[in-house]
Amino acid sequence: MLGCPALLHPLEVAVMSASLSPSPSASPAPRAALVVFSGGQDSTVCLAWALSRYQRVETVGFDYGQRHRVELDCRLKVREAIARDFPQWASRLGEDHRLDLGLLGQISDTAMTSERKIEMQTNGLPNTFVPGRNLLFLTFAASLAYRRGLSVLVGGMCETDYSGYPDCRDNTLKALQVALSLGMDTPMTVETPLMWLTKAQTWALGDELGGPAFRELVIEHTHTCYLGDRSQRHDWGHGCGHCPACQLRSEGFRLWKASHPTAP
Ligand code: ZN
Repeated sequence: MLGCPALLHPLEVAVMSASLSPSPSASPAPRAALVVFSGGQDSTVCLAWALSRYQRVETVGFDYGQRHRVELDCRLKVREAIARDFPQWASRLGEDHRLDLGLLGQISDTAMTSERKIEMQTNGLPNTFVPGRNLLFLTFAASLAYRRGLSVLVGGMCETDYSGYPDCRDNTLKALQVALSLGMDTPMTVETPLMWLTKAQTWALGDELGGPAFRELVIEHTHTCYLGDRSQRHDWGHGCGHCPACQLRSEGFRLWKASHPTAP
């Protein structure tokens, strides 16, 4: 960020300092979090990250007519596995919410919501881009969080390995954090723990948080493939192995494995 803007609303200052202060991992912060949870690898690691920090963590998923609807089933399986196999997190895992955002399918015509081939467009973005999707998701999440008494929103957006989506950028999300906090007149922190991580580092973070058991959960139950293919099982998980999402995930796993040759 290039210096501080001249006129900051007091709430803005509070919001900015809140997001800059480190979250202690030993004693959980009293604040409660809502994780934007799709059932993919990234949001599952974000869920583990939040469960390691906050006393109470709820999840929200969006049904927007996505092609890979299989991820909506995966998210329930991931939650079940966490509740069953990770006692250190189970008591903190709160309710799940699923919001119907079918209107997003109506206003966008992309490879994420219709049967089209995934390819690059002339503007440099892949045609999987649903314009402003993350802004809409986080805004709906904030409304829900406000009602539920949750003041931290956690999302898996990332600038490092992303496909150029402008609504995944750090500055976009910082601006949204300020807008949400002002618009709701309460500090609403947007946390993006994966923002500067590569996919290999995301695999490493998962291992740090939950060890090999959590890695196995990610491989077996999370879904990333744009085509919704779960018929093929690779060492990095299920997927077609060829779409951009599968390529990112498998390459990240390969790099992580290469740097952790003795990992169990
Ligand atoms: Zn795929």
